[in-house]
Amino acid sequence: MPSRRPLVAGNWKMHGLKASVAQFEGILRGCTRVRGDVDLMVCPPATLIAAFAAAAEGSRVAIGGQDCHAEPSGAHTGDISAEMLADAGARAVIVGHSERRTYHRETDADVRGKALAASRAGLVAIVCIGETQAERAAGQTLAVVERQLAGSVPDRAQPDHLVIAYEPVWAIGTGLTPTATDIEEVHGMIRERLATRFGRPSEEMRVLYGGSVKPDNARELLAVGGVDGALVGGASLKAEDFLAIATAYA
Ligand code: PEP
Repeated sequence: MPSRRPLVAGNWKMHGLKASVAQFEGILRGCTRVRGDVDLMVCPPATLIAAFAAAAEGSRVAIGGQDCHAEPSGAHTGDISAEMLADAGARAVIVGHSERRTYHRETDADVRGKALAASRAGLVAIVCIGETQAERAAGQTLAVVERQLAGSVPDRAQPDHLVIAYEPVWAIGTGLTPTATDIEEVHGMIRERLATRFGRPSEEMRVLYGGSVKPDNARELLAVGGVDGALVGGASLKAEDFLAIATAYA
């Protein structure tokens, strides 16, 4: 059974100006406190990728984007391709975050196209999936997550270019989290489906949990069976909080 390296990734969303490089440098300084086998990543807004990548050069912290276009270039005003993210110094990109699915009406097919673009550009795609509160209340969690997984992950996905982030929409930014049993059930289903679809290589694919991970619940959430790390929103904006989450891997 291959062991998957934990990954703690921060999603800064639409937060950060040039002055935020100083905040990021706090993460760079403090990351020596994090266990050596834990991978660290910060996904700033696109405007800060190059500056963060320059600051992080030679460190253990990788930089990621938060979205990309499916095409490498073209007449798509305002969009950014995976190749552009890579050129700016990113090594990964989040695709299909629930805020993109909701506010930009992204479908599973759109997300799959973006994940394909990520691997074409040599980036790791962090594919986000997760149910809404209404879907959970209706008992549809497993069905929704399974459908998103099937539709959003490309057939040719490679373990070193794919990370899944299970993020219940109702847990994002709310302070609410599912129970350990609920998370384990969803992660177990995801791993089973990955195994059916990709066979042995799927054992290397990491499945993160995301949604209100904070310093005070990180130890419990990261210890849940099948959780290979965390995608962290709000708490990743403060260096000390992000590091406290990553050091929950004692
Ligand atoms: C996210 O936006 O991916 C996220 C998990 O946010 P938060 O940690 O703030 O809930």
